[in-house]
Amino acid sequence: MVLLCQKTMLLTLASTLLLGLFVVSCVAELQRFEHAAKPDGSLSFLVVGDWGRRGLYNQSEVALQMGIIGEKLDVDFIISTGDNFYDNGLKGVDDPAFHESFTDIYTAPSLQKQCTFGISVLGNHDYRGNVEAQLSPILTKMDSRWLCLRSFILNAGPEMAEFFFVDTTPFVRRYFIDPEDHVYDWKGVLPRKNYLKNLLMELDSALRESKAKWKIVVGHHTIKSAGHHGNTHELAKHLLPIVQAYDVDFYINGHDHCLEHISSTESPIQFLTSGGGSKAWRGDVNWWNPQEMKFYHDGQGFMSVQMTRTEVDATFYDVFGNVMHKWTTSKQLSSAI
Ligand SMILES: [Zn+2]
Repeated sequence: MVLLCQKTMLLTLASTLLLGLFVVSCVAELQRFEHAAKPDGSLSFLVVGDWGRRGLYNQSEVALQMGIIGEKLDVDFIISTGDNFYDNGLKGVDDPAFHESFTDIYTAPSLQKQCTFGISVLGNHDYRGNVEAQLSPILTKMDSRWLCLRSFILNAGPEMAEFFFVDTTPFVRRYFIDPEDHVYDWKGVLPRKNYLKNLLMELDSALRESKAKWKIVVGHHTIKSAGHHGNTHELAKHLLPIVQAYDVDFYINGHDHCLEHISSTESPIQFLTSGGGSKAWRGDVNWWNPQEMKFYHDGQGFMSVQMTRTEVDATFYDVFGNVMHKWTTSKQLSSAI
């Protein structure tokens, strides 16, 4: 067990040193990486989801605007909220979709720096392909910006912000009992009950121990959304109580192909959907309590986040790079617990 863990750590270390991220531990817990803040103590990143369509459905246009905003904000990295390759993930490590939908699309200079792109989780469409391929260090060798794991932690700062990346696809029961025509690659996930139990325990313990000023959970599936897929009730049941118990500030997801900001009347958590990386459906939105619904855009786009220890600015952009919604929140330095 320990040997396996060390082996994984070494492999990941080798494959991620180029990304400027450093593995710091791997002992019966979620794998951890660190990323230093800028010299002025700030951090900025973009979030995009549901994108890999060989540039079609405005993927290239969104990528172009990401490049422009990325330059302006001098982004440290880019988070992908999953559904990285449509329709059925990657067939293998040599699937040309990796280049056609990723390397050849996000070509702007601001997205070319090492450690800028591809801190990624898997979406349901990624699980319809070869999952091991997307997780493989071979992809990182082909494009050093790529880092994709199932569930892991990124500590930025240090201790300014902690990102908890959660593999949400295995939570959704329907994919197991009624997969329709789709074939999912559940290797490494079965038995599902154990997988979910361990993941929730690891997440619970990591959140409990976190000393970060800002806690951010990232998953592919929605917890709350007015979009096409709506709420994911398995996550509302199993994940939401944990993130609320440990005062997580933001839950960031994709899956619904829109841009969306929902607050909560029950807790300070904010639900931010950035799933506008390519295909989107105009008008595909359900009613939501206007007290909680801060913003909804039924089109393509992406999100930027700029943060310091005391302030977070989240901004949503449409396919033309126009600012659609901007939201700021702050914390007192002394309120860190
Ligand atoms: Zn999805």
